[in-house]
Amino acid sequence: SLFHSNSTALQNVADDLTLPQFLIDNAARHPTRPERPRDVPCLVDDESSREVYFDEMSTRTDALARGMRETWGIGKDDIVAMYAPNHIDYPICLWATHRLGAIVAATSPALTAPELVYQLQIARPSLIIAHISNLSIALEAASTIGLPHTHVIVLDAQKAASPGSLKRESVDEVIERGRAASPIPEIMLRKGEAKKKIAVLCFSSGTTGKPKAVAVSHYNMICNILQTATFLRINENYCPDEEKRFQVGDKCCAVLPFYHIYGLIANLHFTLYAGMTVVVVQKFVHESLLQSIEKRRISHLFLVPPQVVLFCKHPATRNYDLSSVRFCMVAAAPLTAEVTTQMLELMPGIHLGQGYGLTETCAAVSLFPTTSRVGTMGSAGQLVSGTVAKVVKPDGTLAGPGEPGELWVQGGQIAMGYYKNEQATKESFIDGWFRTGDEVIIQNNGDIFITDRIKELIKVKGYQVAPAELEGHLLGHPHVADAGVVGIPDDFSGELPLAFIVLQQQIRKEVALRADVAEEVKRSIAEHVSSAKSHYKWLTGGIVFIDQIPKNASGKILRRMLREHAKTLPREK
Ligand code: AMP
Repeated sequence: SLFHSNSTALQNVADDLTLPQFLIDNAARHPTRPERPRDVPCLVDDESSREVYFDEMSTRTDALARGMRETWGIGKDDIVAMYAPNHIDYPICLWATHRLGAIVAATSPALTAPELVYQLQIARPSLIIAHISNLSIALEAASTIGLPHTHVIVLDAQKAASPGSLKRESVDEVIERGRAASPIPEIMLRKGEAKKKIAVLCFSSGTTGKPKAVAVSHYNMICNILQTATFLRINENYCPDEEKRFQVGDKCCAVLPFYHIYGLIANLHFTLYAGMTVVVVQKFVHESLLQSIEKRRISHLFLVPPQVVLFCKHPATRNYDLSSVRFCMVAAAPLTAEVTTQMLELMPGIHLGQGYGLTETCAAVSLFPTTSRVGTMGSAGQLVSGTVAKVVKPDGTLAGPGEPGELWVQGGQIAMGYYKNEQATKESFIDGWFRTGDEVIIQNNGDIFITDRIKELIKVKGYQVAPAELEGHLLGHPHVADAGVVGIPDDFSGELPLAFIVLQQQIRKEVALRADVAEEVKRSIAEHVSSAKSHYKWLTGGIVFIDQIPKNASGKILRRMLREHAKTLPREK
């Protein structure tokens, strides 16, 4: 049996608009926009309190587009890579790229040089927009992929002026130049074309292997904004105004990274569509977020589970007035009932629940419904409008309500596939369905429970860690003959990566006989990872020596066996 969304049907999703045409040019038609006071800013920089109002948001976008076209000739299907933390101009860069018919490749600012090179080799950008804090890595990566340094620009003008030798042109300067440049022809998509036009490349390892670029279309993004808005009934009179989750004058803090689909769709685009003011936070620091909530009277939070844990456990939390918060959505990893209860004790009366989705589903598959203030404990919510699901049992038959199986989903938010990777696309995007690699149970009332992860992906604080990437890297260490990486449960981070290592013959005996040598080898292996990989990929779950990595006949690592084995090990401090 198929599971259909039991919320209001989705209507009129434009399939001939680019994202900025939908969000900016058609803003007058958005549900909350007409009531939106003109003196309410759209974007606010948390650090400087600089505000950007609607008209300026629109003119900055157009000016940047002109500047990018004039100087670098950016045009149809060119790629502009963003390598930056959240910034008030981040969305401007995104929409300006779209105005030119070009594509944004959104990369994590935490990437090390080799990781960035790997992603840029897939995306092949014509321009890189970096933050001043990671400019040197951006330049190093540009050299490696053969992109001239004049094709690297920075987000922050003021700060760009300081470290002399690294000075690069800033987005602000390009915008100023662009204001004087001649207008660019408006992009007109034919009917249906927005479904085939890539807006963003976001990186995800999917079911197996290394990170791949997920091709997200303009339609995918517009669709999920509308699916979320419809499901959350932002424009329906279903209850008294003061009880509604979304009201005129709402403000959210954007602490989730915009390069990740959850931050990009939920925390930035949906919120702007709903008429909220988005306070842009460059880097999540718990106490700064608390200050910001109190000072700015923040009403809406979009978080990942470890951030909720900090709210509940961090002593500073109780020093701040958080009474302005009315809504908190938690997604990207599971939120336990225990933490949910603690959060409700801290902020009684708020709307609190989970969302669930993947990069490949251009954010939301399910959200906690409006039928009650708090989502069902432990549930990842219910299918958003315009989404169909099936739950496939290991024998290939369909599961009914209450039965576990792999979740497959269908809907306008399902991405186009993996960019330039037909093989991986074929394995997960099948006959209009997307295979999530997550095991779920869907109850009769529509509540979805994520019961296990079938795919090899590890999630640390909501960030993706691809075991295959770490295993490949570990094989580059001189003492490592074979490696298998799995996630072990952790109260704060959700999971931590643990590496099972088969040592090279020559070192094995010594390691077995001498504890100090074993420690030294472990230290060196851990450093091999930490010197080359983003912090959340470090082997914080530990390193365990093993005689052999269990594999099936075709050489595939039997991860379930490794995970079971990990459970029997004493936990390291
Ligand atoms: P990403 O593509 O980085 O968003 O990762 C997607 C994966 O995160 C999903 O396939 C799930 O395994 C996991 N995930 C996302 N949201 C939840 C949730 N609410 N509960 C459990 N797992 C989640």
